[in-house]
Amino acid sequence: MGKTKFEALRIQNLKQMRKKICCATVFFIFCGAKPDTGFLKGCHWIKTKGGGYCMTDDRMQSSLPGVFAAGDCRARPLNQVVTDVLYGAIAAISVMKFLENKT
Ligand SMILES: Cc1cc2nc3c(=O)[nH]c(=O)nc-3n(C[C@H](O)[C@H](O)[C@H](O)COP(=O)(O)OP(=O)(O)OC[C@H]3O[C@@H](n4cnc5c(N)ncnc54)[C@H](O)[C@@H]3O)c2cc1C
Repeated sequence: MGKTKFEALRIQNLKQMRKKICCATVFFIFCGAKPDTGFLKGCHWIKTKGGGYCMTDDRMQSSLPGVFAAGDCRARPLNQVVTDVLYGAIAAISVMKFLENKT
C-alpha cells in the first residue's frame, strides 16, 4: 500500500482470518524452503530426512547407487548458492566416475 511509494502492507492470517496493516518501507517475500522431492515419497531405496531432504554420502550419491543429489533437495547445514555450486561440481564428477566404472 502507498500512494507514490511502498508504505505499508495489508496482511491476512488465513488460519484465523484476521487482517492487519503493517507499516514498513521495505519488505522481503519468504517463499519457503521446502524441498520439491514429493516424487520420492514411498521410495524406500532413496533415503530422505527432515521433510524430504535427500540424504547422500560425501560424493553426493544417495542410498541408491547411481542416483545423485545436490542443491536444495539435499540434506545439508547451509542452503546457499555458494554451497550448491560446490556440491553440484562434486556431484557432476561423481556421476562421471560412476559412469566410467560402469563401461
Ligand atoms: C527467498 C530466498 C532467498 C534466498 N537468498 C539467497 C541469498 O541471498 N544468497 C544465497 O546464496 N542463497 C540464497 N537462497 C538460497 C538459494 O537460492 C538456493 O540455495 C539455491 O538456489 C538452490 O539451488 P538449486 O539448484 O538446488 O535449486 P533451484 O535454484 O531451486 O533450482 C532448481 C531448478 O530445477 C527446476 N525444476 C524443478 N523441478 C523440475 C523438474 N521436474 N524438471 C526440470 N526442472 C525442474 C526448477 O524450475 C529450478 O529452475 C535463497 C533462497 C530463497 C528461497
